[in-house]
Amino acid sequence: MLPEDPIAKHFRLTPLQLSGLKKLRISTVRHLLYHFPARYDEGGTEAPITGLIAGTSATIFGTISKLETRRSWKRKIPVGEAVITDATGSIKVMWFHQPYLAKKFSDGMYVKAVGTVSGKSGKPYLANPQVEAADPSDTGMFLSKNKTRDASLFAVYPESRGITSLWFRHAIEKVFSAGLIFDTISDPIPGDIVSRYNLPDLKRALLYIHKPEELKHAEAARKRFAFEEIFAIQLARAKERAENNAQVSFPIRDGTALAERFLSSIAFAPTKAQERAIADILADFERPHPMARLLEGDVGSGKTLVAAATAYAVVNSRPLGRTSGTLQVAYMAPTEILANQHFQSFVEYFGKLPINIALLTGSGCKKFPSKVAKDNATDISRAQLLKWVANGEIAMLVGTHALIQKSVTFKHLAYAIVDEQHRFGTRQRRALARKGDLTAEQIPIPHFLSMTATPIPRTLSLTLYGDLDLSILDELPPGRAKITTSIVKPGERADAYEQVREQLKLGRQAFVICPRIEEPDPEKWNALQAKSAKAEAKRLAKEVFPEFRIGLLHGSVTAKEKDEVMKRFAAYQIDILVATSVVEVGINVPNATMMMIEGAERFGLAQLHQLRGRIMRSSHKPFCFLLPETKSEISIKRLKALVETDDGFKLAEADLKTRGAGDLFGRKQWGVTDLGMEALKNIKLIRAAREEAQSLVAKDATFAKYPALAARIANTGGLHQE
Ligand code: ADP
Ligand code: MG
Repeated sequence: MLPEDPIAKHFRLTPLQLSGLKKLRISTVRHLLYHFPARYDEGGTEAPITGLIAGTSATIFGTISKLETRRSWKRKIPVGEAVITDATGSIKVMWFHQPYLAKKFSDGMYVKAVGTVSGKSGKPYLANPQVEAADPSDTGMFLSKNKTRDASLFAVYPESRGITSLWFRHAIEKVFSAGLIFDTISDPIPGDIVSRYNLPDLKRALLYIHKPEELKHAEAARKRFAFEEIFAIQLARAKERAENNAQVSFPIRDGTALAERFLSSIAFAPTKAQERAIADILADFERPHPMARLLEGDVGSGKTLVAAATAYAVVNSRPLGRTSGTLQVAYMAPTEILANQHFQSFVEYFGKLPINIALLTGSGCKKFPSKVAKDNATDISRAQLLKWVANGEIAMLVGTHALIQKSVTFKHLAYAIVDEQHRFGTRQRRALARKGDLTAEQIPIPHFLSMTATPIPRTLSLTLYGDLDLSILDELPPGRAKITTSIVKPGERADAYEQVREQLKLGRQAFVICPRIEEPDPEKWNALQAKSAKAEAKRLAKEVFPEFRIGLLHGSVTAKEKDEVMKRFAAYQIDILVATSVVEVGINVPNATMMMIEGAERFGLAQLHQLRGRIMRSSHKPFCFLLPETKSEISIKRLKALVETDDGFKLAEADLKTRGAGDLFGRKQWGVTDLGMEALKNIKLIRAAREEAQSLVAKDATFAKYPALAARIANTGGLHQE
């Protein structure tokens, strides 16, 4: 049996089992070995058969009989059946999808069985138990009181229809006893690292994780595999970083003076945090290789200003060795509305400069200044715009995804900025970085700035964004009205509505957010979403706010309809916008100062914080109402963190602790396993993996000496955001 053998070569599988394995993404023996238990059952306490309680796990001893195989009459599933009898009574045993297990035993054998008691209380049965031959003198019930037995541990795996934990235990047993696997599978972690951190080697760890004798062995193995995964991600990032640093870029010499000139031209002073971020970027600009930086700052912390001050330095710089023309900047936003908003901002910021600013989106192009009216932007054709971008006449281009289309080429793209970067896939971001000067001998790569409002816990950014340097805006500009967040108990709903009504009458606007329910099938997910937001919009219009204009926004409308509704909301043609969490990130409707979040406990803290960030955009006082559906004290206590702090980073850390990173970002989105996500809570492990990864890449970025490691990295997820 070899690690890359297809699973079907060694196991007889029904079509249902095949599709079950496919769902779990298991197609080779290696995948099977890397499908780790979610937890371990101790098999419950030994119990007499009479009195077993449904829903608990139990260990019983007795004589097995009535062994048979059949198909269940309802679902046509192959089942193996038997009955186990002890001195107190009998219980039926059922093995679903593995009828052959009934053939492993013979009538009258004495056995030990461990499984979950299922069925209605009157008619319990033991579902998919682990059964093995036992010695009658071993019977727990006859053990003297001071003689105890080691509890055995049973791996419980993430399951799928047709593929039970029991199936996994047998399959793993078969792989292990084939032996050969241990001679052919090689450890991706270099030996010196394994010993430096006292990790079990691959073979031991596989045994420990699937068949631990003690929990501490399983823990050691989990730690090792977590290290392996984080290490592989870190290596992939360190490699990307090394590749980046081998590229050339556009040096920008007088950045500091230029940025200062810009900052003294605007009405307000930058915050300390903005100053630091601007200085970070300008320092990067002076280096010969392209910048790769992430700017992380809470909603409203003023990321656009950082982008503008640094972009100003670029559009005021000449390409190397030239006496005319300027370097170019591209600014990519996730939606048309945002692209429009930023185009307006840059026109305001750079309007007095002798440069052209343009907007490129799917629905049209604009240029500033207009030839006829110097103070206005004008619509231009796409062909004209592309020509001017390609010949360098447009210094600053703002746009949506449209920016990365093949037809868009620049003359001297020196700086690429991506706003709300988590909305774009890695590939899209990289595509923008590849639009440097295509005529140059060694194509210079633009400096690259990613911006995000998602507060990311430190461990997560060190890992998933390990290829990026980090600047953080941890300070809001002064003079913002502080938000009041309150948890609305079921009896207080009417009061909350009255408070909202009062503000609506004063001319403010409100969001009502309906819960997001994690649902694997995206189509179903939308249907579910649409229904609850729709129903809520109807109810509010009829029963609560008949005098106000109510709009609706949810995941199953087209992007165009979504833009349309948002525009009407921004134009104050809608008072209350009922929406799912699809409400555009970063959208600027300063007059919207209220938000009611239904089923608030279903959201992560960081996500709730981002949602409420949408109403913190003006000097009008914002109000956020959390309306949990649950009375669970733990959930309410968790939500209280939002009432008490408005620091996004603190909330993100709290979220990581209480819910795990999986909930924070959606594990699938990152291609990181549960085990890897769990490891993100462990800063020591992250640091160690990072240091090792960096020093290994510094020695040999091709991993020539470590083929198993190179293969592991090729299979590593992370940033699989497409
Ligand atoms: P975000 O980080 O969410 O993208 P923006 O860049 O949209 O934040 O900034 C939010 C608002 O704060 C804008 O109206 C901007 O003009 C304003 N702003 C930014 N920096 C400052 C500052 N230093 N002082 C005062 N207002 C600022
Ligand atoms: Mg922004």
